[in-house]
Amino acid sequence: MECVFCKIISKEIPSEIVYEDENFLAFKDIQPIAPVNILIIPKKHIPAIDHIELYDKELIGGLFLAAKEIARVQNVSENGYRLIFNIGEDAGQTVDHLHLHLLGGKKLTWS
Ligand code: 5GP
Ligand code: ZN
Repeated sequence: MECVFCKIISKEIPSEIVYEDENFLAFKDIQPIAPVNILIIPKKHIPAIDHIELYDKELIGGLFLAAKEIARVQNVSENGYRLIFNIGEDAGQTVDHLHLHLLGGKKLTWS
């Protein structure tokens, strides 16, 4: 198994896990760019949003529900937070396992 995030799911690679259920894992980004910087991933290996199919719609809906709950636990719901998918080269995607970035804990800029 080559995928680094699949190895994080199997605990082959350690990570700071903040949330786990049957379908999702969330852990702290190793190179945080904000005080709160969590990666939320499905346990199913999907390379990117560009690869989702109709039968994944419940899973992807669940990913956002998990994000909402993680934001609440991380105390960023009130002040606000950002959810980002990087998809492909131009967006700077570096890991080919679908992941939702949750950023917060400071005023975020947009450029
Ligand atoms: P991307 O650039 O693909 O949207 O985001 C991948 C993210 O995964 C990057 O922010 C990077 O810091 C993070 N990352 C890559 N490898 C690891 C790792 O082994 N552990 C953790 N916790 N984060 C990782
Ligand atoms: Zn994977």
